[in-house]
Amino acid sequence: MEAVDLSASKARYGKTTEQVAARAGVNLKDCYQCGKCSAGCPVAHAMDLMPREVIRLMQLGSWETVLNAQTPWLCASCITCVSRCPQDVNLPALMEEVRRASKAAGNRPANGPDVFNDLFLKGIYTNGRSNELYMMMRYNLFSGNLLQDAPNAPHLLMKGMIGFKVHKVKDREAVRRIIDTCLGGEQL
Ligand code: SF4
Ligand code: SF4
Repeated sequence: MEAVDLSASKARYGKTTEQVAARAGVNLKDCYQCGKCSAGCPVAHAMDLMPREVIRLMQLGSWETVLNAQTPWLCASCITCVSRCPQDVNLPALMEEVRRASKAAGNRPANGPDVFNDLFLKGIYTNGRSNELYMMMRYNLFSGNLLQDAPNAPHLLMKGMIGFKVHKVKDREAVRRIIDTCLGGEQL
């Protein structure tokens, strides 16, 4: 039987699966497919690939399947899988890098989680924190769901859970430096 060369993943979208994993600080070969991550993932029921399968496909260099999957966009970064993994594989960091690779490849996930992701990060980059009302309004505008959440807005405003004042942290430059460092020179 022919051995699978794990270092020869196809650079289908400019970067190999190993390169993308390395950006997340993940060595794909650390995973031995025990499945504990998938068994504990609270979002697994909605995923089209189990977290374990994402890693397996990346080990095999099956890039296109991973980049077209909804799973990376559904990952809630809750870190349950990391706490259960006997190999300390950082799956949420890997999912984030896969999302970036998927976006760079021109893929658009269903229901606009990429829009939410972009707006959230840009909000943090600009103000150092997210401002829910503006985040909600922009998301509705850019995702094409103009009136989504509108019925809840008056109640949330009255309760003070959202507001028109834009809150900013003092040292926004420090926050930007952190994000820039994480992005490694790439644009948001
Ligand atoms: S828990 Fe860790 S080692 Fe086990 S399948 Fe998931 S990532 Fe791989
Ligand atoms: S971090 Fe993502 S993959 Fe891991 S358990 Fe949470 S939702 Fe699932």
